[in-house]
Amino acid sequence: MRLADNTIYLDCNATTPMTRPVSDVYARAAAEFFGNPSSPYGAGRKAREGLELGRAQVASLVGCDSSEVVFTGSATEANYQAMLSAAMARPERDRILLSAIEHPSIYDQQPRFRELGFKVEEIPVDQKGVVDMDALAKTADDRVCLIAVMTAHNETGVIQPVKQAADIARGVGALFLTDAVQAMGKIPSPWPEARPDYLSIAAHKIYGPKGIAALICREGVPVTPLLVGGGQEGGRRASTQSAALAAAFGEACRQAGDGAGRFAALAAMRDDFEDGFLSSRHAVIYGRESKRLPNTSFFSLPGVSGEEVVRALDFRGIAVGTGSACHSGSSGAPRVLRYMGEALSPDTTPIRISLGIDTTTQDMAEFSRALEEALK
Ligand code: PLP
Repeated sequence: MRLADNTIYLDCNATTPMTRPVSDVYARAAAEFFGNPSSPYGAGRKAREGLELGRAQVASLVGCDSSEVVFTGSATEANYQAMLSAAMARPERDRILLSAIEHPSIYDQQPRFRELGFKVEEIPVDQKGVVDMDALAKTADDRVCLIAVMTAHNETGVIQPVKQAADIARGVGALFLTDAVQAMGKIPSPWPEARPDYLSIAAHKIYGPKGIAALICREGVPVTPLLVGGGQEGGRRASTQSAALAAAFGEACRQAGDGAGRFAALAAMRDDFEDGFLSSRHAVIYGRESKRLPNTSFFSLPGVSGEEVVRALDFRGIAVGTGSACHSGSSGAPRVLRYMGEALSPDTTPIRISLGIDTTTQDMAEFSRALEEALK
């Protein structure tokens, strides 16, 4: 996909720009829905309508009830709220099980929960980047309060056995969280089939605005508010909601639901790039043997620094990443590759491309040409 300055943007797992329909909804809603959604007069009621329409559209993409949608400021916040809610609910349970490849918004909470007295344990992944369900089943017991396994990995794109993980959690009476931030809008929602207790989703990964996300909480599960004081979001998150952000998030969800068919074409473009360009250069493609998100390719080229390639491509008007944007700048092989047992030589670092709904074969051809030049 192209940005306004003609940059070919292939880093859609990091974030996405608002599409025109979404930014139109946002601009209109920001003007029309300025009222406080809790106010009892016309302007408040109007804002409330915008807020609730957005909520219904989020619920429709997820496949849940509107009452189960709690708007948050970010997916990081949603993930932390789910973890805290599950941990606080059952004092007799003191174990938390996380997959070793969770996003830092979950993984990096470990010291905090250890300080609170929990034993936090990591569930390994296999060489294909899939969380080990045998290991999870073996270690899960009635002392576990929470199991977290993401729906799809942000770097490899590998889709995880979320239903199996949720069943294991149910089997021992633990609550189950799936971070569906990268999966939502790219593959079917795991909510109806896996029936997790908590699910997180972010607007800015699906062409919506930044500053809004949602924690989906199954009816009746414990929810500990991180912010108290106003009673908004059914007492689950205090502070005045932005009806404009919610309306734009809703529009992004509506669009994601309509655009599901587009992803087969993206997978074909991604596969062509891997089968052609990458294969001829002996690239290592991570997670390729697993089911992956249709838009994602995570690879390394022997002896090539991903950081240098990213800089050289930027110079040529192409935006790609080296992996999780949250970790750019940190050194060493990405955690997911270490856990997959991938040994990278010191001069080799990976590159991630993630295509967007408007990526064309011409974009991919230009990207391949530019990558060829960059490698020279
Ligand atoms: N979870 C996953 C899988 C992500 O990829 C990200 C962002 O990259 C997040 C959570 C956190 O999202 P945010 O930074 O918008 O809070």
